[in-house]
Amino acid sequence: TVPKDPVLAARGLVREFRGFRAVDGVDLDVAEGSVHALVGPNGAGKTTLFNLLTGFLKPTAGSVRLGGQELAGRSPERIARLGLARSFQITSLFAELTPRQHVELALAGRSGLGWRFWRSDRALGRYSARAAELLEQVGLAGHGEVPAGALAYGRKRALELALALALDPKVLLLDEPTAGMGVEDVDRTVALIERVREGRTVVLVEHNMSVVSDLADRVTVLQHGQVLVEGPYAEIRHDPRVVTAYLGD
Ligand code: ADP
Repeated sequence: TVPKDPVLAARGLVREFRGFRAVDGVDLDVAEGSVHALVGPNGAGKTTLFNLLTGFLKPTAGSVRLGGQELAGRSPERIARLGLARSFQITSLFAELTPRQHVELALAGRSGLGWRFWRSDRALGRYSARAAELLEQVGLAGHGEVPAGALAYGRKRALELALALALDPKVLLLDEPTAGMGVEDVDRTVALIERVREGRTVVLVEHNMSVVSDLADRVTVLQHGQVLVEGPYAEIRHDPRVVTAYLGD
């Protein structure tokens, strides 16, 4: 088969903080339909790169293209509307609102209805069928009507995922989707990502190597803000440079 153009491509991405290069000339190609993991030791630049891709940080230099469109310099909201969405942070959930209301708001926001309608159940009601589908997809079908603040940790993370999916993104970015989870929640999250990746491209920052091996088609290993190695997990995991990077230097 003829290799397709990458759906997401970064070229020469740089981000400096007071002269320190947290991301130092990164090229990244994410193939359409793939799960692509960003890994590397603490301080390697993963979070900074993630924030550059999603527009939460502006690059000092370089470009990020989604499909044919340049993203660098655009706002996170604009980037999300162009088809690149990240899962929300738990801290952005409203404790008193239910999962159903959260997802309805996300769907309403996407269609331009706007947050000013957030109290109007009638306005949001038109999204209830799609909201129910999304909650079902992330395993929250039985938990749509409790205040989000009362959800267990793993379920809050599942809700964040539903909010990102509500944007129907071409590329879904997941920042440490299994962070802070016990084994059972990790397994459930891996199964969940397997389900939602259908028809999408997923980029994830992940520390748990067994999760990377379960999910990722390709892996980019970062160190000191640069790409150390890139390839399929089976190839990179025994690479001596990767082993050394993880042992610390
Ligand atoms: P990782 O996510 O791989 O642990 P980060 O992207 O968080 O790495 O950080 C990469 C490097 O950039 C670290 O040395 C960190 O201290 C530095 N850094 C990150 N954000 C900032 C910031 N806002 N100001 C100054 N230095 C930063």
